[in-house]
Amino acid sequence: MNTNEIIDIEDKYFINTFTRQPIVLDHGDGVKVYDKDGNEYIDVFAGIAVNILGHNNKRVVEAIQKQAEKLIHISNIYYNEPAVEFAKKLIDLTCLDRIFYANSGAEANEGAIKIALKYTGKSEIITTNNSFHGRTLLTLAATGQPKYQEPFNKNLPQGFINVPYNDIDAIKAAITDETAAIMVEPIQGEGGVNVPDENYLKEISEICKEKGILLILDEVQTGFGRCGTLFAHELFDIKPDIITMAKGMGGGVPIAGFLVTEEVAKGFQPGDHGTTFGGGPLVCAAANAVLDELYENNVLDNCVEVGNYFKNELEKLQEKKEKIADVRGYGLMIGVELDCPGAEYVDSMREKGFLINCTDGNVLRFVPPLIITKEDIDKVIVALDEVL
Ligand code: PMP
Repeated sequence: MNTNEIIDIEDKYFINTFTRQPIVLDHGDGVKVYDKDGNEYIDVFAGIAVNILGHNNKRVVEAIQKQAEKLIHISNIYYNEPAVEFAKKLIDLTCLDRIFYANSGAEANEGAIKIALKYTGKSEIITTNNSFHGRTLLTLAATGQPKYQEPFNKNLPQGFINVPYNDIDAIKAAITDETAAIMVEPIQGEGGVNVPDENYLKEISEICKEKGILLILDEVQTGFGRCGTLFAHELFDIKPDIITMAKGMGGGVPIAGFLVTEEVAKGFQPGDHGTTFGGGPLVCAAANAVLDELYENNVLDNCVEVGNYFKNELEKLQEKKEKIADVRGYGLMIGVELDCPGAEYVDSMREKGFLINCTDGNVLRFVPPLIITKEDIDKVIVALDEVL
């Protein structure tokens, strides 16, 4: 099929939920992807912060191939080695104790909310304005974006109290005897790459400890090295009770999960939660390879170094371009807020061979593979300079 045929058939057969860019991506290699018509792009979006090792990382591909030949799927009523191997490796790297595997960010958040409610026996979760936690009804209720919630208002689960982001007093005022947890993204992704004040998360963490409230961090977008540390909460020196993860975890295959403390894990007993596919051998083999590559190839160091360079170059560009209102982010999760809508710049960057994204209307979001080089960044900056 050619590009136009693919687009026409999709228009006819798919439920219309995505506003797609008019290209058909066909294959990838490192930070580059190629469309069906042979055009090359530097991928500065990485499938929304997913392809942390770029496209077709050799180690991940080989791990998937090897596992696929051995065993693709079993039921969760049996043990499987790749899942156990990954859990042990990951948990040794974090401040948490137990894992539940899921298949998507929304599902990880759904499970995290359920365990928090069940463990505490309480009914309210405080979430923040402009947050994004997923599209299932429970995670939509947690999401602080009325535009996504409005069509489903009659059926959204109750108990979510939404407060302004980055506002400690608002959190304090929202706490009641029924507060089970505070749920927050360390850095808001979909909401516009919003970075909180340095003390915000630490203060939330202290309030939680003082009042016996659980702290759930949604690290679906910030996790797996995106901000230069394995999880973003390490930047703020806090110890959450629950973290959720997805996106970068499998380097492109659908694997997600949540980690909890030993204590919170007591909230679930057999039968309280489950999944058919979660933690299957194939995706766990991929996640194992991702984690090994992340550490053995110094990917986090590259993220910090190139991320700082990128941010610095963007700040220099900001001095030249009045349109740029703000540059913010950590590691390779960077937002450039414009004083005008950003969609047209996504198009003009794509036409120049760069995949970027715009979120919250006017924030250009840069979440490239963590292996991107300064040379690639130089090319991105030249192109941005031209289109802006
Ligand atoms: N939480 C956050 C912070 C996210 O950024 C996203 C996806 N953009 C989700 C949850 C939902 O993840 P998924 O699309 O895998 O369900």
